Amino acid sequence: MSKTYLIVAEHRDGKLRRVSLEALRAATDCADAGDEIHAALLGEGLDSLAAELAGYALAQVHAIESEELRHYNPEAYVRALMPLLESLRPAGLFLGHTAIGRDLAPALAARLSAGQISDVTAIERDGGNIVFVRPLYAGKAIERKVFTAYPQVVTVRASNIPAAEPRADGGSADIAKRAEAPAADLRTVVREVVRKTAGKIDLAEARIVVSGGRGVKSAEGFRPLEELAGLLGGAVGASRGACDAGYCDYGLQIGQTGKVVTPEIYIACGISGAIQHLAGMSGSRIIVAINKDPEAPIFQIADFGIVGDLFEVVPLLTQAFRQALA
Ligand SMILES: Cc1cc2nc3c(=O)[nH]c(=O)nc-3n(C[C@H](O)[C@H](O)[C@H](O)COP(=O)(O)OP(=O)(O)OC[C@H]3O[C@@H](n4cnc5c(N)ncnc54)[C@H](O)[C@@H]3O)c2cc1C
Repeated sequence: MSKTYLIVAEHRDGKLRRVSLEALRAATDCADAGDEIHAALLGEGLDSLAAELAGYALAQVHAIESEELRHYNPEAYVRALMPLLESLRPAGLFLGHTAIGRDLAPALAARLSAGQISDVTAIERDGGNIVFVRPLYAGKAIERKVFTAYPQVVTVRASNIPAAEPRADGGSADIAKRAEAPAADLRTVVREVVRKTAGKIDLAEARIVVSGGRGVKSAEGFRPLEELAGLLGGAVGASRGACDAGYCDYGLQIGQTGKVVTPEIYIACGISGAIQHLAGMSGSRIIVAINKDPEAPIFQIADFGIVGDLFEVVPLLTQAFRQALA
């Protein structure tokens, strides 16, 4: 019997989040021929996002609009999604392992009496089983899990599963629009979300991360890193050492108690390479370390190491990239 899958697509600043397209790819990898994949979009003024999403291999895009869905609110989101889940009865629900996905997925899984596998970095087929791969213990172990029943709820870690591509035939999925009636009895209402890093690239989804540690020595010391990241279209990250020292905001912290990033290139500047930091970045495809101590542990996992003063090396790198990109 054919099955239905649903992804919950996130968007920010009028753009679909890449991790949602990775969740779509994950759902596609789990689906068999004849299965249908649907997408849910929640928010306000969703027409252009729904049209963009309809350009992917989906059976239907469900655009649910309401003022209360403008900002993420777990209660409003769960209420808006439940009628759709009840009518579609999906075999699988896929979300990004983002702040929203991590909050919403278990709430929906509980209502659906579904099993959940979180933070999935790969999906494999093993005979008749679909195996979900996820890192454990800050990346020191890998867990391979299978569901034994439907429905299934899955969250996927950003930048690990390739993003779905738009349909090559230029076709378009059907769009079902629904206006959610305002709910007077919401227990909380989100009035405003103030972003500290407005306009900047999302660290968790950045393809290049330039990260600074205590070796950066001050908030001012982050400027050369920001310049390099800006030139490369990347984001700036930090070690907890740098955050604790007050050089930057905790929103930039990468590691066991910070964000987990898996960019194409991670440039660690003045970071020693403590195990708790590695937990957040060791999955990066290429790791470049700049440190004046040749014994710094970060060099053990670096693909390219530069022993030197970051205040000399980073501007030289910026200059070289600027010339190369000119
Ligand atoms: C429970 C727990 C959770 C933690 N979670 C995290 C986490 O999520 N993320 C995290 O990062 N840490 C975390 N930590 C802290 C972690 O153990 C380290 O203390 C921290 O990562 C060190 O930060 P650092 O590498 O910037 O600083 P340091 O260890 O002080 O290293 C600074 C480095 O800069 C180099 N340096 C200095 N000057 C220069 C220069 N001019 N040019 C080049 N190199 C220079 C030095 O040689 C040194 O290697 C956690 C710790 C605990 C106990």
